[in-house]
Amino acid sequence: NINREKSTRLYEEAQQHIVGGVNSPSRSFKAVGGGAPVFMERGEGAYFWDVDGNKYIDYLAAFGPIITGHAHPHVTDAIVRAARTGTLFGTATEHEIRLAEALKTAIPSMDKVRFVNSGTEAVMTTIRAARAFTGRNKIIKFAGCYHGHADLVLVAAGSGPSTLGIPDSAGIPPSIASEVITVPFNELDGLRQALERWGDEVAAVMVEPIVGNFGMVMPKPGFLEGLCKLARDAGALVIYDEVISAFRFHYGSTQTLPLFPDHEAIRPDLTALGKIIGGGLPIGAYGGRADIMAMIAPLGPAYQAGTMAGNPASVLAGIACLEVLREPGVYDRMEALATRLADGLQASADRNGIPLTINRILGAFSTHFCAHPVTDYEEAQGSDGERFARFFRLMLERGIYLAPSKYEAWFLTTAHSDADIDQTLEAAEQSFREMAKDE
Ligand code: PMP
Repeated sequence: NINREKSTRLYEEAQQHIVGGVNSPSRSFKAVGGGAPVFMERGEGAYFWDVDGNKYIDYLAAFGPIITGHAHPHVTDAIVRAARTGTLFGTATEHEIRLAEALKTAIPSMDKVRFVNSGTEAVMTTIRAARAFTGRNKIIKFAGCYHGHADLVLVAAGSGPSTLGIPDSAGIPPSIASEVITVPFNELDGLRQALERWGDEVAAVMVEPIVGNFGMVMPKPGFLEGLCKLARDAGALVIYDEVISAFRFHYGSTQTLPLFPDHEAIRPDLTALGKIIGGGLPIGAYGGRADIMAMIAPLGPAYQAGTMAGNPASVLAGIACLEVLREPGVYDRMEALATRLADGLQASADRNGIPLTINRILGAFSTHFCAHPVTDYEEAQGSDGERFARFFRLMLERGIYLAPSKYEAWFLTTAHSDADIDQTLEAAEQSFREMAKDE
C-alpha cells in the first residue's frame, strides 16, 4: 500500500475550510467509495506527483483541458509572458482577436465569438442568446449530457450530479425546471415527440454532439443530421456543447470531424467551448451565426459581461496550446496510443473474465464495467459502479490516475509515451487479476 498520509491530513484540514474539502464535487472520491482524495503537488508531461511524493500517470488530464500534458514548455512560456506583462487590464487586447480567429478558422460555424470564464458560462449564454433571438423560452436537452451547473441545464443532468446519485439539484425553482425538456440521446423519437408537443415554444435543442459525460458516446449515424433537421423544422436553434469535444479528437470540433460525412447537415447555430481552448487556465467561449450573436450586448439587447473574460493569461495559454495541437501528427499519435491502450485493456479484461465495454473515439475512451454496449445514458447507468470503484483503487495503488467516476473518460495527451501505455497495461492486468480473485 502506497503512503498517502499527507493527502489524508490535508483532506481533514481542507474540510474545515472548504465545502466537502474540494472545490468541485467531481474531485471528491465520493463516487468511488469515499475517503480522502489525492492532493497533487506538481505535474510534468503525462505525470503528476502527490503531496506524499507518489508519482502517477495521469489519464484525467484535469477532466480534459491538459491535452498537451502538465507544464508544457510552450504553454508555460505564454503564461509567464502574461504574468510579466500584466494579467488583466479591463480593456480589449490584441490577443483576444488572435484566439478568436483561431477558433473561427477551426470551427467555421462560429461567425462571431465571445470569451467567458468557464464552460458553464458559455452554455448559459448560448441559451440566453437563443431565447433572445427566437423569443421562445423552452430548451430541449438529452438525458445524461452535462452542460455545467447553471439552473437550466442541471435539470436531469449528467455526469456530475448523476455520479453523486442526485438526479437533479436542490435550489432550482420548478418554474425554471419546467422550461427544460429532457429526451433520450441517440434516438430521434423522443425529440420528435417533444417538438410535436412544444415545438413553437422551443428556443433551442442543446446537445453534446459527441458525449463526454456518460462515457464517450458517438452519435449514431444520422442522429445529429436528424436532430438538426427536426429542430430547424420547428424553428428552434441548435446548440452544440463542445466544451469537451472541441480540439479533443482532431484540430477542430465535432462539426468538422472527418468521421461525419456531411458537415453542412450537422452545422449548429451556436457552439459552447471551454477546457482545451484555455491551455489549462480558466476559459469558456461561445459563438455562432452572426445574426444570433448580434443579440449580445453591446450590439444587442441580451446582456452578458465578465471582469475576467478574455484575460491575457488564459487567452495566451489557449493560443499556445492550439499551436502545439497544430503540429503535424499530434492527433494521430494520441489516437495510436489510445488504440493500443484500449485494445490492451479489453484483452486483459477478457482474459480475466471481467465484463468490460470500451467506447473509444480516436484519442479518448471510456471504460464501462458491463457486457452490453453503451450508446445512451440508461446503458451507461447500467454499468457496475462498484466494480469501477474497485478498479479505480487498484490502479491508483499502482500509480495510474483515472477520473474518480465510472462516467468519465480516459484522456491521452501529447505527453504520453509508449512506455506509459506498457506500464498502464501491466497495472491493469494485475488489477483485473485481483478483481477476478475477489469473485
Ligand atoms: N459542458 C460540458 C460538455 C462539460 O463537460 C462541462 C464540464 N465538465 C461543462 C459544460 C462545464 O464547464 P465548466 O466546468 O468549465 O463550467
